[in-house]
Amino acid sequence: MEPDDWTAFRQRAQQTLDRALDRLEQAGTGRVWSPVPENVDAQLDRALVDAPLAADSVDAALASLLPYGVGNTHPRFLGWVHGSGTPFGLLPAIIEASINANCGGRDHVGLRVEHALTRWVAEQFRFPESASGLVVTGTSMATVVAMKVARDAALDFASREAGIDGSKLVAYTSAEAHACNARALDILGLGTSALRKIPVNDAFRMDLSALRAAIDQDRAAGLVPFAIIGTAGTVNTGAIDELDGVADVADEEGIWFHVDGAFAASGILSEVVAPRLRGIERAHSIAFDFHKWLHVNYDSGFVLVRDEVLHRRAFSTRPEYLKATERGLAAGNPWPVEYGPELSRGFRALKVWAHIAEFGPERLGAAISENCYLVRTLAALVDEAASFERLAPVETSICCFRYVVDGLSEAELDALNEEIVVRLQETGVAAPSTTKVKGKLAIRANITNHRTREADLHVLLDAIRDIAPQALERIRHV
Ligand SMILES: *Cc1c(COP(=O)(O)O)cnc(C)c1O
Repeated sequence: MEPDDWTAFRQRAQQTLDRALDRLEQAGTGRVWSPVPENVDAQLDRALVDAPLAADSVDAALASLLPYGVGNTHPRFLGWVHGSGTPFGLLPAIIEASINANCGGRDHVGLRVEHALTRWVAEQFRFPESASGLVVTGTSMATVVAMKVARDAALDFASREAGIDGSKLVAYTSAEAHACNARALDILGLGTSALRKIPVNDAFRMDLSALRAAIDQDRAAGLVPFAIIGTAGTVNTGAIDELDGVADVADEEGIWFHVDGAFAASGILSEVVAPRLRGIERAHSIAFDFHKWLHVNYDSGFVLVRDEVLHRRAFSTRPEYLKATERGLAAGNPWPVEYGPELSRGFRALKVWAHIAEFGPERLGAAISENCYLVRTLAALVDEAASFERLAPVETSICCFRYVVDGLSEAELDALNEEIVVRLQETGVAAPSTTKVKGKLAIRANITNHRTREADLHVLLDAIRDIAPQALERIRHV
């Protein structure tokens, strides 16, 4: 499986590179999202049936996919929380594909890059130099890893051999926390019901007196509180829990303090967000993403653990065939496989390392601050327009609002705003998403996008005004 003709292969590679560059150069133009057309879809199965294809057919098929991503490289992609990537992500991707490194272990440059990155991350969050970490797919996986350490530490690691049958462990997070936290407890055998959802205050932050009360109640019932999960950047409104206060409770109770900082923990680099993260440096573990507000290409998340010894005890097993040595390829210990569930794993750390090397922490932080100003601008535009109503405070990257028409019921307003968002996506003009805020359906605009400009916000609001009459018409007829 090697090229017969390297000169011809170079030409193919250069043509593909040019097509990729063309797409990246045009990232700010055209439609945001385009549904996958039938002919593009149909060729996917056909290619596998007809394989092997001629070289130019393979290249053409690959190029035909370029316009049909989720749209997150476009400045008016404002849905969920997606990072927008940068053109520079192409460069480490090429190097990564050429090395084809397996970063589960052994002594090579892949592990050195990940080590350097881990020390850099620990420094940003003011964790000790001895802290351990792992580049993972995303915050969902980072949460599983962190919660496994917390669970096993609480059970004095007996759980690694004996399992958790009859464990009375319970954990706490806010009612606004991301579903990946409950999923982690499910995966770890504790069950989603072991995660207590604590109500939030008017700022959508976890109510700390309710947290204390829940812990007391569980202890009185003979249960064993083992972890509190604070959120830095809730998925609905972007709120940041009072992390210092959460850390106080965890300290008093002697239990693990984990932070889900999927997007807003990156705000540690921004002068606007960093002050709100006070207390994150006291966490036992942090899960966050490079692929969201830091714009490294998918997928790239990170789990940072304060106590390296606990982290390794929760995962390390070194059978004979993976034995550590002082010299040769089996040196370079400990290995990443001792900090997480994966043995074979790609060189994800490279694109993150290259991204930081390219831009530096100040510029990355400034891009986050700029997004915060843009979200506040959007909130101000919403507040001054009679046809819009804001539904939640703006703290980080998210503005929740709705289009209002006098005389409609709450149910009709929900249906109207849902229809508006689908139409925005279908027309290709902008792509916010929706959520429910205190029972009301919100148009949810999240700006973790370095390509978004103020003009894009006006396009969004104007498009909503244009679309609203047709949307209203439609909901009245269904
Ligand atoms: C996105 C997100 C997650 C999940 O992260 P993935 O990288 O998608 O696995 C968890 N928590 C919050 C607050 C998020 O925004």
